[in-house]
Amino acid sequence: MTVRSIGVLLAASLLLARTAAHPARAAALQVEVYKGGFASVNSFIFSNGKSLVVMDVQRKTYEAKKLAEIIKAKGLPLTHILISHGHTDHFTGMAWFHQEFPRAKIVVANEAIKRDVKDYAIYMDSGGETGAEPALEPALRPRTAANPSGFDYQHTIGVLAGNKLTMKGGGTLEITTDYVPTEARHMATVYSKDLNALFLADFGYNKVHLWMGDDITLDRVAAWRAELLRIKSRYAGLNPTVYPGHGDPSDMSLFDDMVRYIDDYTRIVTNAKSRQEAMQAMTAQYPDHKQADFFLKYSVENHVK
Ligand SMILES: [Zn+2]
Repeated sequence: MTVRSIGVLLAASLLLARTAAHPARAAALQVEVYKGGFASVNSFIFSNGKSLVVMDVQRKTYEAKKLAEIIKAKGLPLTHILISHGHTDHFTGMAWFHQEFPRAKIVVANEAIKRDVKDYAIYMDSGGETGAEPALEPALRPRTAANPSGFDYQHTIGVLAGNKLTMKGGGTLEITTDYVPTEARHMATVYSKDLNALFLADFGYNKVHLWMGDDITLDRVAAWRAELLRIKSRYAGLNPTVYPGHGDPSDMSLFDDMVRYIDDYTRIVTNAKSRQEAMQAMTAQYPDHKQADFFLKYSVENHVK
């Protein structure tokens, strides 16, 4: 027996020993963050070594295409495309994903989020666009009698049964939706025990200005603040890694940072004599935050008349 074959035998027996020690254990869950350029929006790829789930799929089709290529390169089946809430920066890529992964299910946590997705698509398609927020991608225009090749929201988006998504091959994503209207009318957050990680969707922004435009009143901003404190206390004992919808992964300190931001923002827009004054005060206070020309600008337009 050569030295090399002894080495191979040793390695094989070590591998056997390890397999025997954890016979039924699935590969540990892993998560990879895809950081979108447009709107600094995140997508999350979950893998258990046997199958994949992606959470949120970008605002721009060219970014959804990049995300899809990363997923395909993993060589594992994508079973679910989970959309956290009904904002275009999280769901636009689903038209491309529906085409590229016809066997993957597009899912949301409840009927309310499903309605929000379609309502927001219609809103964006009928005058909701701004200088920074372009019109709806044509592939997402709703299917109607006049547009029979449009996106069929009713039949293409499924609603998960129960508050979890069980991955094929092992692992569970626990989903929570008991939130009042805040950044979105309805929102789903995800917690993974395997990762000890909390995915905040758009409750969470890290070094990115918060989106408070459109229908988000200051009352809803205050409700957002209250929900942040409630989520913080709910997960404090677990001390998870915290993944925001926008910006880099963080830890539990993100909650206090965001509460401080909301307090500063609310004070500034309430007292400002002009939008320009509010913009200057916020960008002076938060010079390193991204999306000042988009999220902050339209939030200030919403709250300073
Ligand atoms: Zn978002």
